Amino acid sequence: MTLPDLPEAFYWTQSSCGLVLKCRPLDTVARHVFTTRELQLPSPGAWEKVSEALGVRRVATLNQVHGNTVVPIRRDMAPPVEVCSGDALVSDDPDVAVAVRAADCVPLLLADPKTGAVAAVHAGWRGTAASAAVAGVETLTRECGANPDDLVAAIGPSIGACCYEVGSELVDAFAAAGHPRHLIDRWFLAPPAGRGNRNGPTLRLDVAGANRDQLILAGLREENVFMCGLCTAMHLDVLTSYRAEKERSGRLAGVIAPLATSPTR
Ligand SMILES: [Zn+2]
Repeated sequence: MTLPDLPEAFYWTQSSCGLVLKCRPLDTVARHVFTTRELQLPSPGAWEKVSEALGVRRVATLNQVHGNTVVPIRRDMAPPVEVCSGDALVSDDPDVAVAVRAADCVPLLLADPKTGAVAAVHAGWRGTAASAAVAGVETLTRECGANPDDLVAAIGPSIGACCYEVGSELVDAFAAAGHPRHLIDRWFLAPPAGRGNRNGPTLRLDVAGANRDQLILAGLREENVFMCGLCTAMHLDVLTSYRAEKERSGRLAGVIAPLATSPTR
């Protein structure tokens, strides 16, 4: 199998949860992986394999609801008894990795080199309209004392603007959520020539690019935000896509944990 080409900042590697995608600049500040279709999600034992790959005691996940609620997991805090709902997790506990699941939505990982705290964010169009990535940055800042200026971000595989045709009602939803027109115009691209009509999809959404812009607006440095640039629907041998595979699609996970020798420890 020929693996898809990646930008310089990303690489493929084998792990105990199969083939994974990693981000070089994130390697120095956190333990992390973006899983591929080699790890079947959901499947029995999948999270144990992920725990092993990262060297953590447990992997925290959420009941994802396409919103912007962030659940913080603090060191020395008892683990929540019930499964929480939300779309982003923050951890400063080196024993706990945080994970989000996606099949076309954006899995996004954040790490703070100074405090060692990390975050995982799930953002499809609804989460992006609700600025879930910004909520993740704000929680890292408020709960863990991170400074957005220091944060390193990796944006994993998601449906690309090449394959994400959407209707104008999404533009209305982004406008209603308060996003300025110049950003909406940047995130929603015109259809290719000859495509789109009054009844069908007329626009394409660059959901990864929108999240990148939101991170920069939230105070991250442009040079600290890394996008893998892979479209889930165009690499079905390695990735998985709900748009392309419908009910047969699996899930990819973005998982991150503080370094074992985290500065907060
Ligand atoms: Zn595509």
